[in-house]
Amino acid sequence: MTVVADLRSDTLTRPTAAMRAAMVDAEVGDDVYGEDPTVVALERRVADLLGHEAALFMPTGSMANQVGLRLHAGPGQEVITDSLAHVLRAELGAAAAYSGITTRSWVAERGRLDVDAALAMMVPDGGPYQVSTACVVVENTHNFGGGTVQPLSDLRRLREATAEVGVRVHLDGARLWNASVATGVALSDYGSCADTVSVCLSKGLGAPVGSVLAADVERIQQARVWRKRLGGGMRQVGLLAAAGLHALDHHVDRLAQDHARARRAAESLAAVAPGVVDPEDVHTNILVLDVSAAGWSAGELVARAGEAGVLGYPTDPRHARYVWHLDVDDTMTDHAVAVLGELLGSRD
Ligand SMILES: *Cc1c(COP(=O)(O)O)cnc(C)c1O
Repeated sequence: MTVVADLRSDTLTRPTAAMRAAMVDAEVGDDVYGEDPTVVALERRVADLLGHEAALFMPTGSMANQVGLRLHAGPGQEVITDSLAHVLRAELGAAAAYSGITTRSWVAERGRLDVDAALAMMVPDGGPYQVSTACVVVENTHNFGGGTVQPLSDLRRLREATAEVGVRVHLDGARLWNASVATGVALSDYGSCADTVSVCLSKGLGAPVGSVLAADVERIQQARVWRKRLGGGMRQVGLLAAAGLHALDHHVDRLAQDHARARRAAESLAAVAPGVVDPEDVHTNILVLDVSAAGWSAGELVARAGEAGVLGYPTDPRHARYVWHLDVDDTMTDHAVAVLGELLGSRD
């Protein structure tokens, strides 16, 4: 089998020749001593973009999220979010394993933020009777929800209502770049809706490694302690930060191409297999298909498409996920649409 379009995830991007060149030339120092100029430059740049005072380079988005949560909640406190959130489903119970944090969740259609559900669920001060809610997590865009963009008005409403009662907001912005490119909303406007924000450089932006956590100066000082404690203190890591800076210079605006390709695929597939997806729901680079609507199980469809060189990921028995990124062009998209269209249109 030859792989034609690897749409399993936007983490699969490989650094371009230009990015590798930028990495080779990077100035470096020992970042645990705070002496890597390229890391410092990346942190300053991301903090400014997100409208926060400071930022910290992290090896992974999971660590950025978990350090963010740890700043807001400790053992015996809770974090609430939606049931499809990455922090709940894909970080292997880290909040419980490392921080003794418990979690509760509400169900959200396509990962769309439900402010009323969040506010109804939170218990700002549980006293000696109930678990106190320390933090609400919002994911933007929403990965397993299908690249869903959260409306700024909802984020603002959540921010105001939680701030009034002293509950913190952590924004899992692994793909916040995609949200900003899709809507034209400034990253700093999204950033202003949270106490801590994590962003990934290693998804659609195409860097090989790296995430950044942004917050105020005091929290970033604490985050530095937690990062080292978790084993994430890194040394001459300007090599990797240079890839991130290169990505910010060259790979943000082009995300619009990924969004257009995902939308085009959704439109074609909705035409041959009505009910698998509403193209209006495809806000960014992620296509989640309800393949049960076309008589398939996700595992079966993903396997059959894989035989024809189109790789995807079954997120649950009904849903198959296909993600567009830097290494997927129009020709690959055409092939993916043809293969998926034929399979999805073949049953009723
Ligand atoms: C990928 C991702 C992360 C972080 O993942 P790592 O693999 O740990 O870098 C966090 N949140 C969301 C929504 C993601 O998609």
